Amino acid sequence: MANREMRCRCGAMAWQVRETAPGTHVVCYCADCQAFAAHLGRTDWLDEQGGTDIFQTTPADVSLTEGAENLACLRLGPKGLRRWYAGCCGTPIANTLPKAGFPFVGMVLPAGQQGFGPVTAHVQTKSARGAVREHGFAATGFALLGRAIRARLTGRTTSPFFEAGEPVREAHVLTPEERRAATP
Ligand SMILES: [Zn+2]
Ligand SMILES: [Zn+2]
Repeated sequence: MANREMRCRCGAMAWQVRETAPGTHVVCYCADCQAFAAHLGRTDWLDEQGGTDIFQTTPADVSLTEGAENLACLRLGPKGLRRWYAGCCGTPIANTLPKAGFPFVGMVLPAGQQGFGPVTAHVQTKSARGAVREHGFAATGFALLGRAIRARLTGRTTSPFFEAGEPVREAHVLTPEERRAATP
């Protein structure tokens, strides 16, 4: 398997990020990312401090290569990010903004995943379990904006998660009970 090919736990679904795709490898410690993993029963994807490895990149560089019919989506609340996962077995895949307009995707990786370059930012560390030094937030934001603007200028705005401006799956919005149960 090449570095940037990913497969869900049960094997039914596979996806990949283009080898040459520019991106930023960050670890996010926010409570929402922890809740996403907890709701899916995949806290094993988090690092010891509860961090989620994320590769922020351009959606046009992401493709679902096998079992795309298993793609599912949830939101922690009615205004939350769209959090995409393999519905077959609850493996996290990616986070996107609620709407298609801004070409951004955060691919969710298992902690310590190789092949996506060094981690250059640790963000939202207030919600970390234990002390983690926050760094890289501003640079990450600039990189993200730059990639989105380039994608728009070059017309590379396709996404496996949106079609004609609409998400390809209805999202399940967690009930308050589900959300409470998943919150760290
Ligand atoms: Zn699966
Ligand atoms: Zn987060």
